[in-house]
Amino acid sequence: MADSTAITGRSVRAVAARTTDLINVLTQKNADAAAVAGVLRAHGETEPVEDEDVDRLREAAHRIRQVLASQDTRVAAERINRILDRAHPPRLTDHKGTTHWHVHVDACDDAPWAPWFEASSALMLALVLTDRQRPPGGVCAAHGCERVFVDCGSGSARRYCSKRCATRARVAAHRRATTRKKG
Ligand SMILES: [Zn+2]
Repeated sequence: MADSTAITGRSVRAVAARTTDLINVLTQKNADAAAVAGVLRAHGETEPVEDEDVDRLREAAHRIRQVLASQDTRVAAERINRILDRAHPPRLTDHKGTTHWHVHVDACDDAPWAPWFEASSALMLALVLTDRQRPPGGVCAAHGCERVFVDCGSGSARRYCSKRCATRARVAAHRRATTRKKG
């Protein structure tokens, strides 16, 4: 029997969290190399980050964000394919015995940050889309929130980036409903 958790397993969820955290920091106007390095460190990536890496990472983040903003599965798939077209054939690495075995689609273990980020994010999104047969994520529906999320859940489609935004939206909707009743 197909086991859906085999695909959206631990490593996919870890990349999903890293991808969304990176996009959300890179789309802030004044995010610098230190801010980006901080996010990478929080996800176990400790190599240094230079200013030119941030520029390239920002361009990559924009393209990944376009995938997450797609509300149509076919559009999301085409955008992922466009990124995978530029990626490398899948290869396994354990980074010379320092990590668990996982799949990479970048050129080599020393590839620069941006192609590594873009290729690994696209592979993860391809797996999430395959698993769920719907767009792999979205942009938060809460008013004024531009953050993105990857939806690894198997239930109904997720709409908010966080519990905080979901609560905020629910409170706002309730307030609108009670104002209408009074008016
Ligand atoms: Zn939000």
